[in-house]
Amino acid sequence: MSEKLGTWVTGFARIGEKRELKRALEAYWRGETGFDAVERTAKILKERHWRYQSEAGIDAISVNDFSLYDQTLDMVQALGLEPDRFKDIDDPIERYFAMARGDAAHTAMEMTKWFNTNYHYIVPELKAGMQWSIDLEKIAREYAEARALGLTPKINLIGILTFLGNAKRVDSRDEDALSLFHELLPAYEALLAEAAKLDERLIVQFDEPVLVTDKASRVSLLCKEAYTRLAKVAEGVEIYVVTYFDHAKEAVAQLVQTPVAGIGLDFVYGAENAEVLQTIAQSGKRLIAGVVDGRNIWVSDIEGRVAFLNEIAKTVPKERITVATSCSLLHVPYTLKYEERLDEEIRTWLAFGVEKLEEVALIEKLFHAGADALDAGEAMAYAKNREANARRKTSTRIHDAAVQARMAGIEALKKRREPFAERIKAQHARFAYPPLCTTTIGSFPQTPEVRAVRRDFKNGVISEADYVEKMKGFIRECVAFQEEIGLEVLVHGEFERNDMVEYFGEQLKGVAFSENGWVQSYGSRCVKPPILYGDVSRPEPMTLFWSTFAQSLTDRPMKGMLTGPVTILNWSFVRDDQPRSETCYQIALAIRDEVDDLQNAGIGMIQVDEAAFKEGYPLRSAKRPAYEKFALESFWIATNVAKPQTQIHTHMCYSDFNDIIDTIEAMDADVISIETARSGNVLLKVFQSHGYEKEIGPGVYDIHSPRIPSVEEIEKQIHALLEVLPARQLWINPDCGLKTRRWEEVKPSLRHMVEAAKKVRKTL
Ligand code: GLN
Ligand code: ZN
Repeated sequence: MSEKLGTWVTGFARIGEKRELKRALEAYWRGETGFDAVERTAKILKERHWRYQSEAGIDAISVNDFSLYDQTLDMVQALGLEPDRFKDIDDPIERYFAMARGDAAHTAMEMTKWFNTNYHYIVPELKAGMQWSIDLEKIAREYAEARALGLTPKINLIGILTFLGNAKRVDSRDEDALSLFHELLPAYEALLAEAAKLDERLIVQFDEPVLVTDKASRVSLLCKEAYTRLAKVAEGVEIYVVTYFDHAKEAVAQLVQTPVAGIGLDFVYGAENAEVLQTIAQSGKRLIAGVVDGRNIWVSDIEGRVAFLNEIAKTVPKERITVATSCSLLHVPYTLKYEERLDEEIRTWLAFGVEKLEEVALIEKLFHAGADALDAGEAMAYAKNREANARRKTSTRIHDAAVQARMAGIEALKKRREPFAERIKAQHARFAYPPLCTTTIGSFPQTPEVRAVRRDFKNGVISEADYVEKMKGFIRECVAFQEEIGLEVLVHGEFERNDMVEYFGEQLKGVAFSENGWVQSYGSRCVKPPILYGDVSRPEPMTLFWSTFAQSLTDRPMKGMLTGPVTILNWSFVRDDQPRSETCYQIALAIRDEVDDLQNAGIGMIQVDEAAFKEGYPLRSAKRPAYEKFALESFWIATNVAKPQTQIHTHMCYSDFNDIIDTIEAMDADVISIETARSGNVLLKVFQSHGYEKEIGPGVYDIHSPRIPSVEEIEKQIHALLEVLPARQLWINPDCGLKTRRWEEVKPSLRHMVEAAKKVRKTL
């Protein structure tokens, strides 16, 4: 393979274009099939994915990008670094899935977000004096499978710095896993030495996205030592260090001093990488140029990409430039092949994983051989691509004059409401709620009956009138229950929503949905993000009907329940033909209209959920102020239409608020509910030390567990809260929505919560 390295795909998805792996795994976990069935599916998928790539003409195709659960967990296994607590499980397969998911006797390893994507990896648990041992079985098998098909693949490994940067120490609070660098490096050397035996010449891709984060300055120094030593392990191994998701300027300066063969840079999300081209040129190393967006779904501007590569080639010799995806295609859906209901024009603007392979190949041919070298099929694809990009600039499906007119006045809307002190007075006068006011986060159990009603309506099995009646029934029961147990601020229960983003996306103009655009989130779980393709607007009220119905059933305040603009943005595929901020403002305008309609209809408390506010933060702190600015402004645009006596709530799931407390304060919500039950009151301390003046509902029990908390336990928790914050500021609620729980758990838990609040209130 090393003779020709024109095209490179950093990695491919693995769940299967029909989510075959998900089905196989889940059947195995339920005990319906043996592990051999999983392995058969896995083999079919690997071969199919390799074939897609080789047929598209990709030179550098990966092995070990496949995984039955997660590639970081695979690294843990390859290095023999399974935590001690799993060592009693003899069967390696059982052990693997116990680490991933836990079992009756073992709690699972922690899972967290892979950089700024929505993929979640298993967090390695490391300690000083760890015993490693090399297990090359999976890698060797996949390598042999690919070789049997006539391929000469590269082997993907998570690089040592990223592995350590993403790991946690289980033996020390003061030191992080990166300080174990010198202990782990021999393990990586041994792994590479073992892998070198697989073939005479071998290409290894070390994934090192940690080099684009704020940890860069620290890890870049280690980078030189790591790759100097690894490159010396075996003669026949060619090492490529691949980075993605942002620029890796600091690391490049170090890597060029090592004997690695090449460096991968992301030119889609790390434009600053252009500044180190001279350094790379002088080093004589190969540049793996990530120019096809690996984490968004729009067709590439092929002409523009080729022009960009020609620009690079003024510095780095052309023959040393490889055309690549910006990152693994794990983060995009598989193929447009099964999309039968997508609008025909929108479809021409999209490229999922398989379509991106063709883009990489076409860009390479145009770049290295020129337009004259294209065959008829390629020339046609190129013409279509140019046409699609031209249409995107003018299509009325994308460009909506009414939205543009509103956007012209957007600056005036980027402001806070009247001072909180005045608002809160008006709100207390209006609602007269007590201190330690009780409420919930919004959703109530999504029972099989609730889901069946939604499904039947969607499939045309029941009429709209039937659907509405049934939904009203669920709401009625839910409201009656809340009144009965004495909650003070009620919700309607969100039974009409399958998902907090999809529900709004389906009703907004400018948003499309694929049928099969699944992306792996973790393990066997996939999500199907909405596609924000055009100017966003709200043709009609989205929640007004259900909220006003629910309010009509009770005299107590009924919270309106909306998903915030930043969360809708962060959980969608966002158009790339305008800044993300513009799209976010447009969504904010749509939510703003809904807030206004709700308040005008007498809904006096409106919650605008921003569950994904924190996860949109850029990896580089230098880029954070720009994100915070538009995220805050969007929240203001969505909510500052509220009159002083309309109370705006927001909710955020588990977040470390320490470094963003000023931003939380600036969001300016009257009440924020947050998740604290799992982390104790550590999270809350920052509100105290910061001098936060608004009202807060720190979750008093963990809804992620089926456990029913006792009255005493919640009382204790409330008392603990009172040590940090005064009663007049505190709300009492669970720490997130209740949709994943069963009524059998929700009923006693909420009863206990209300009772505990009442008891504590008496002692005030
Ligand atoms: N209102 C939503 C619910 O209760 C909030 C969910 C979330 O924060 N993830 O389900
Ligand atoms: Zn939540």
